[in-house]
Amino acid sequence: MTGFVLDIGTVRAGLDRVELEGAAADVGLSQPEWREQVRGSFTVERSGERVSVRGSVQSRTHLECVRCLREFTLPLEAPIVVYAERSGSTSREEQEALERDDFMLFHDGRRLDLRDPVREALLLEMPITPVCREDCPGLCPKCGADLALGEHDCPRG
Ligand SMILES: [Zn+2]
Ligand SMILES: [Zn+2]
Repeated sequence: MTGFVLDIGTVRAGLDRVELEGAAADVGLSQPEWREQVRGSFTVERSGERVSVRGSVQSRTHLECVRCLREFTLPLEAPIVVYAERSGSTSREEQEALERDDFMLFHDGRRLDLRDPVREALLLEMPITPVCREDCPGLCPKCGADLALGEHDCPRG
């Protein structure tokens, strides 16, 4: 399967393991941070029209270090938990109320679109102040030299 639209018809009743994969752009993650594949590994549980999806998604994001301004790659793994009901199985008001709940989705009996929760889960894992490594010394405040490269010829004092 490609992409994060789960084909419910291929999921066995009961518990099933599903691996999904797609380009970051397929789940609405844009350049330049996101250029790599997103991989998901899920346990799908189907009971009648109710589908629950649990697992995690992985990708790598390309960020700029806030200290040294170099680009670095950060592997991310985000947990996913989604519950889905078949649309039409509840009243319209009930469905709208449930959709406001982050984890509740609706499927049409054939397909369950996981792109929104996959995108949101990965975005939640993005650091607010990315650093290429915990002890990144950053740039010299005087000349802008990268201090991680060692000694440089900046006049002291
Ligand atoms: Zn850095
Ligand atoms: Zn300097």
